Amino acid sequence: MFIAKPQTPKNPAYDIDPKSLILSPKIREECGVFGVFGAANAAALTALGLHALQHRGQEACGIASFDGKKFHNERHLGLVGDSFTGDDPGERLPGHAAIGHNRYSTAGKTLLRNTQPLFSDLATGGFAIAHNGHLTNAYHLRENLVKDGAIFQSTSDTEVVLHLVARSRRIKFIDKFIDALRQIDGGFSFVGLTNKKLIGARDRLGIRPLVIGKKDGAYLLASETCALDMIDAEFFREVEPGEVVVITKSGIEFIRAFPKTPQRPCIFEFVYFARPDSIVGGQSVYEVRKRMGQRLARETPADIDLVIPVPDSGVPAALGFAQESGIPFELGIIRNHYVGRTFIQPTQQIRDIGVRLKHSANRNLIKGKRVLLVDDSIVRGTTSRKIVRMIRDAGAKEVHFRSASPPIKHPDFYGIDMPSTEKLLAANHDLDTMTQLLGADSLGFLSVEGMYWAMGAERRDETYPQFSDHCFTGDYPTSLIDYERKNQGKDPQMSFLVEVA
Ligand code: AMP
Repeated sequence: MFIAKPQTPKNPAYDIDPKSLILSPKIREECGVFGVFGAANAAALTALGLHALQHRGQEACGIASFDGKKFHNERHLGLVGDSFTGDDPGERLPGHAAIGHNRYSTAGKTLLRNTQPLFSDLATGGFAIAHNGHLTNAYHLRENLVKDGAIFQSTSDTEVVLHLVARSRRIKFIDKFIDALRQIDGGFSFVGLTNKKLIGARDRLGIRPLVIGKKDGAYLLASETCALDMIDAEFFREVEPGEVVVITKSGIEFIRAFPKTPQRPCIFEFVYFARPDSIVGGQSVYEVRKRMGQRLARETPADIDLVIPVPDSGVPAALGFAQESGIPFELGIIRNHYVGRTFIQPTQQIRDIGVRLKHSANRNLIKGKRVLLVDDSIVRGTTSRKIVRMIRDAGAKEVHFRSASPPIKHPDFYGIDMPSTEKLLAANHDLDTMTQLLGADSLGFLSVEGMYWAMGAERRDETYPQFSDHCFTGDYPTSLIDYERKNQGKDPQMSFLVEVA
């Protein structure tokens, strides 16, 4: 276990440093994955599944299918709806088996060559792979692979896995794949496709989610259950932490790739990332978020007239806050749904504009009122600062702000866009300073205990953590090899390919 040092590293590994492209944020990805085996229209189902998972990544998407003879792979920059509609994706990507991917990169240019599924002709046959998460030792492995003659085509950490599978000395494909999994660390869920198998895998701690579904005899894999609901499929079960699922014509097989350890699913899926109608770890994300708001109302009450959610992510918590406090819930901020998520915009300048493009004040409602705004989280403080100003400008008498999660003080290394320590508002300022910086009359955060209460968890302490809550506590459940090597100045000086699509 690695506990982050509270100091801000001088040269944070994931900061933008054009000279050290090996750790460029371009390489980071947050994503949604989907897979189908045994359905006539596998690619069309995959397109629908990806559409339901669009919130997990909006920059690029792709689908690979196998038709019994050949693999087909189509990858696009942009949204699923713009890329896989029109003519039937099943016609362009024929076959009974398919996998798909939505990509969400945090900064830098999105390149087509980083778009997944990645495909490779291995000694055992074709292999397509798509990945949600982030590997914490990918750069280190990559450095060794490159020294050994491997030629990389992308800057994605997923390609490291392809190389490891290709180079494994094991005989059977699935053993090669497991061999590769045992060399990587971090938070990941994979879907993979060979000419005979659909494969799913989840990291040993279950940091990133992956579920199994069934529909008319076909098996499905998806990042979240909302993708199963989209195509009217039945939820079968979650892929267990450290488990590899192999689906073939003969059925489904479960292989334990890692010994069982207490699981540590990422709590941020509940706070922000997952769609509210998904069931994660047996719990409704919507209900958990509402309970977060309920508890927030108890922990940080305020004398106000209206509870207003920051849409859409703050809505369930604001409802919980309003119900608990008995104060009216009103839509004081209207969201324009035709703009992508704020974070999708890579530069700070565009992000600043993005907030204005996205939210407007419902002036009539707000004028002269004491309002309390609820959002799911405060990361850099960009959204909250802009929104507080906007609501004040719209004539509110008082503007209070509440975060339905604890202060985010530590970066993420497992595939969620959480910037380096120095950019995190709560990592650098106390409550009073944050309140001033946001321009709010008061500011409040949910406590870590309150968050665990909302999760229905027994308790959270050093010996019994249950979730990976590293963004809030600095308790990282895996090795952080690349991060540590970077801070020790040991990162390799490799230059990536020029930006060719
Ligand atoms: P910030 O403006 O930097 O404080 O970010 C907070 C806003 O971004 C909130 O409205 C959240 O709903 C949203 N948010 C929180 N975490 C993430 C994330 N990992 N990726 C994208 N958006 C996020």
